[in-house]
Amino acid sequence: MSQPTPEVYEQGKGMDAHNQVMREVRSRKEKSYDPHEPTRVWLDEDNTPNGVRESLTIILNTGGCRWARAGGCTMCGYVAESVDGGTVPHEALMDQIQVCLDHEADEADEPAPLIKIYTSGSFLDEREVSAESRKAIAETFGDRERIVLESLPDFVDREKIGDFTQYGLQTDVAIGLETATDRVRRDCVNKYFDFEAFEAACAEAVAADEAGGAGSEGDVESGAAGSEAGSGGETGSTGETDSTGGAGIKAYLLMKPPFLTESEALEDMVASVERCLAVDGCHTVSMNPCNVQRYTMVDDLYFQDGYRPPWLWSVAAVLERTADVAGIVVSDPVGHGTDRGAHNCGECDDLVQKAIKDFDLRQDPSVFEQVSCECEATWEAVLDLETGFNQPLTR
Ligand code: SF4
Ligand SMILES: [Zn+2]
Repeated sequence: MSQPTPEVYEQGKGMDAHNQVMREVRSRKEKSYDPHEPTRVWLDEDNTPNGVRESLTIILNTGGCRWARAGGCTMCGYVAESVDGGTVPHEALMDQIQVCLDHEADEADEPAPLIKIYTSGSFLDEREVSAESRKAIAETFGDRERIVLESLPDFVDREKIGDFTQYGLQTDVAIGLETATDRVRRDCVNKYFDFEAFEAACAEAVAADEAGGAGSEGDVESGAAGSEAGSGGETGSTGETDSTGGAGIKAYLLMKPPFLTESEALEDMVASVERCLAVDGCHTVSMNPCNVQRYTMVDDLYFQDGYRPPWLWSVAAVLERTADVAGIVVSDPVGHGTDRGAHNCGECDDLVQKAIKDFDLRQDPSVFEQVSCECEATWEAVLDLETGFNQPLTR
């Protein structure tokens, strides 16, 4: 059984009370996994600046996010998918990679140009993936075109990115920033780092990019949504759009963490999208609504009528209001239309979701003019009336 405990690295970070609750919630999960098997692997297609490409998405089974073991983020249940003990040896990790390569060889006609690696934590944290494993994985995929790696910002540095760009791989680091507002990130999400750490990670990506890498391919283009279905810990499941240049950052934002009202969450996302894309090196924002995952504080709140995921109207409003910002903004509401995912009234959810997916592909806010529903009036009332002391106003 997994027994989350804080270690020296985590001490003094985040909020003690949040961490204590999250450790208790996570300890209810009893399940262990084979360190020689990846959590998940699948083939898909993604739109990249070079056009649509076959992609191989890998969820590596590592020791799990070290922050989650300390307690961790209020909405994140992904540690439950990780192996016990906190580390996976090099040989076992490479066995996992081999399973993924075998899967690809069985299912695809040729190797996928785009590789995406998630770990339910941080690929660049050497406790999860050692330098030896990272370099071996870089070499394994060195002949591909592009790679996306998931990491918290404090583990991002130019040398680690350089392990990949040296092979000519376009390298994107996906960072679960959640919000550009430090107070919201700390008090509502219980994430320990500040926006400055994100800016520093972007600077590292820019330095890696300038150090040679794969060179620039021109401006960022509007990309398309892939379909990463419910995995990736640090960044969750998102629409996928790819960068140009040797190295870059994709910020993953969380819409409506617990303790924010609908209107506070909406304003926080608009400001966050703008602040992220103003940072040099950050070319894409994936803004995703919070969903209710098992074994989380959000789940406990939800059961006590203390949390409602955001309205899809709010997601659309953020995309519409930030459409002019330079950069790519996408969203992929997981579990849309269900009680545990972003939802409207039940009648219009699929239509609004479709408009959001269209926006991901085309970055054209006029897609939202095509959808309307009577429940918009309810949503507007919620924006006006919901307060921190009587939320949620509706279910
Ligand atoms: S959201 Fe990321 S940092 Fe937070 S506990 Fe989950 S994997 Fe760790
Ligand atoms: Zn509706």
